Amino acid sequence: MRIDIISALPNILSGPLDQSIIKRAAANDIVEIHVHDLRDFTTDKHRQVDDYPYGGGAGMVLTPEPIFSCIGHLQEQALERGHPIDEIIYLSPDGEKLDQGIANALSLKNHIVLLAGHYKGVDQRVRDRLITREISIGDYVLSGGELPALVLVDALIRLLPGAIGDATSALSDSFQDELLDAPSYTRPAVFDGMEVPAVLRSGDHKAVAEWRESERLKKTQHRRPDLLDRQD
Ligand code: SAM
Repeated sequence: MRIDIISALPNILSGPLDQSIIKRAAANDIVEIHVHDLRDFTTDKHRQVDDYPYGGGAGMVLTPEPIFSCIGHLQEQALERGHPIDEIIYLSPDGEKLDQGIANALSLKNHIVLLAGHYKGVDQRVRDRLITREISIGDYVLSGGELPALVLVDALIRLLPGAIGDATSALSDSFQDELLDAPSYTRPAVFDGMEVPAVLRSGDHKAVAEWRESERLKKTQHRRPDLLDRQD
């Protein structure tokens, strides 16, 4: 999978992209991530990417020219490679809310482009002409789209075959089957008077599976009964 991230503040991305599962997945050619500095696509000497909003009001707006130029460049490259871009996604609080189903579906794409906004956001013409999908990470507003882009990248990469050690681990996580995950324990068996449930130490795989399933159900009923309504 290839992911291009377009940002006016690309330094925010470099640390998280260079750690842990994301770093390993890139090193193992499971994912190819390219970060593009929007300022590299400006033509003025101040490398300006924002301007005042028409109609007045507070906050600057990201101008269309560098974004069209950057995405046009990526589209041309993709066509030369013979694989068009699957989705051009703008991270935005008014987009569809990210959930596991969206992450699962996007993890099957070959090539996605993520656009991070800033200030009041991007000029509407970018959204009208270039963007194929808009995704929010929740009903709250952050200062920029870099953290939302990283959230999406992390959610996708851990689903790619080979990205995490045990392929079944991601499938047993919360939300994969409309259930929350069961509690996890590791050594020591007793810590500060708190004991690991005996069934997990019994070696009886069937009993462990049944215990986990019942814990998942109990937790979901208690915390997220809405998820159970979504089951077939
Ligand atoms: N004026 C916009 C609004 O009210 O919908 C908010 C702009 S926000 C301050 C700046 C940028 O942060 C957005 O363009 C978007 O890229 C990103 N952003 C902020 N909150 C987000 C969220 N919940 N999900 C996805 N992106 C978000």
